[in-house]
Amino acid sequence: MIPAAYAVLNLDAVAHNLAVVRRCAPEAKIMAVIKANGYGHGLLRIAEVLASADAFAVARVDEGIRLRKAGITKRIAVLEGFTCLEEFEALLAYHLDAVVHSAVQVDILEQRKEQGVCAIWLKLDTGMNRLGFKAKEFDAIYQRLTQCSIIKQPINLMTHLANADDLKDDTTHTQIKRFKETLATMTLALQTGSECSIANSAGILAWHEALSDWVRPGVMLYGISPFLDRTGEQLGLKPIMELHSRLIAVKSLDVGDKVGYSGTWVCEKPTLLGVVAIGYGDGYPRYAKAGTPILVNGQRVPLIGRVSMDMITVDLATQPLAKPGDTVTLWGEGLPVEEIALAADTIPYTLVCGVTQRVQIVEKSDLR
Ligand SMILES: *Cc1c(COP(=O)(O)O)cnc(C)c1O
Repeated sequence: MIPAAYAVLNLDAVAHNLAVVRRCAPEAKIMAVIKANGYGHGLLRIAEVLASADAFAVARVDEGIRLRKAGITKRIAVLEGFTCLEEFEALLAYHLDAVVHSAVQVDILEQRKEQGVCAIWLKLDTGMNRLGFKAKEFDAIYQRLTQCSIIKQPINLMTHLANADDLKDDTTHTQIKRFKETLATMTLALQTGSECSIANSAGILAWHEALSDWVRPGVMLYGISPFLDRTGEQLGLKPIMELHSRLIAVKSLDVGDKVGYSGTWVCEKPTLLGVVAIGYGDGYPRYAKAGTPILVNGQRVPLIGRVSMDMITVDLATQPLAKPGDTVTLWGEGLPVEEIALAADTIPYTLVCGVTQRVQIVEKSDLR
């Protein structure tokens, strides 16, 4: 039986997208970002198809532990590092690289006597003002960390770009400049073998100066564009996820009939209404506006009325032969997830990350 709501993953496309990263950054090593359950595609499944990446990055220690428990031996960086001693012990036990961004972490590291067992990425805050040390404190922190016995020297250095998806915004240029200047003016010269990392997907695709020893692609690996004004396909990427459901009812409504909760949609003409078995309980965005395109049997029809937990409603005026059981695509071939994100005032990241447990995941290779 075909499930009501299901996502089809074309995992073959991951290798293609990884090759695009390599083409954009031929000299860099690739730290594939697979946090948040591989951007909603499945942590272990994505790790498996990214076996040729040089390292993985996750946000949290427990995500790294899941990878280790599944037998993954590749280098794994934890982008949020650790917050307390207990978490640090777990990170050490599972041989995860720590991003070091706060004084609390430095204090924990300094108290340890082990020799060279913890690889770190020291983070400079170049303007995002989220994680990382400010330029003025960076020099002193760096000196302290070079003296820490537990740290595996050399120390690696990183920063994160806040606005790289906006090609007209000068912030990225300023951030990269600040990163390079801070490193160049430190009291201690950088240790030999010390490596740097700046670029996320947008940095890799649009900011050549952001390329350095390591790049950290996330969203582009899943075939999705980091830019609002173009799709992954327009960038030569291949999307991985398609989201599907089916029609479960078709009915005729009269002028003046109201559709869905709060009756926000009022029929101005006799309307052939389709009810689709997917809603925000599956991760379809609650704020998708009336008119958001949806494919019924491969043809575009508009969303009407409110998105509810288990269902949405569409206007079938152009699909008079549609019937219960017919295939519906919420995003996928012919309907980029980027377009749905725009219609729902969000970004495609939230859509793929937000697909819920109820949605059955099917790998395309199993359908052949
Ligand atoms: C999530 C994340 C990335 C990947 O970002 P994309 O926009 O998905 O490429 C890279 N670096 C850090 C620090 C991140 O948090």
